Amino acid sequence: MTEEAVPGCPFCQIVAGNRPANIVRRDAQVTVFRDINPQAPAHILVVPNRHIRSLAEVQAEDAPLLGVLLSSAAEIARQEGLASYRIVINNGSEAGQSVWHLHLHLIGGRRMHWPPG
Ligand code: AMP
Ligand code: ZN
Repeated sequence: MTEEAVPGCPFCQIVAGNRPANIVRRDAQVTVFRDINPQAPAHILVVPNRHIRSLAEVQAEDAPLLGVLLSSAAEIARQEGLASYRIVINNGSEAGQSVWHLHLHLIGGRRMHWPPG
């Protein structure tokens, strides 16, 4: 399901400029900001401006938006000088999702391990 700004959603508040964040980029579809609890030297969140609860809620018509999220992440990685990095989407609480507004983690600046925990 997709919705307009959801009251109480921290990422809707950041998108709207109603909650402080270390913004890296804002454009018509996407807001990019630094994670408040970074897990690596670079830890950046790429968020659709439109509230989508999780990847599981995405519909076929959202495919272009998903493309924008990924290409934005690649652009930000270039801008940050990251050659190696990891993109993560946690979907569902058992996978570690804690904020219920779709977001893509861009993580880099250190060696990554596999498999992820
Ligand atoms: P996830 O656990 O995949 O849902 O990721 C949520 C991420 O959002 C975590 O890495 C949090 O540290 C981060 N986070 C939560 N609130 C904020 C906030 N207000 N500003 C920036 N990052 C946040
Ligand atoms: Zn939201």
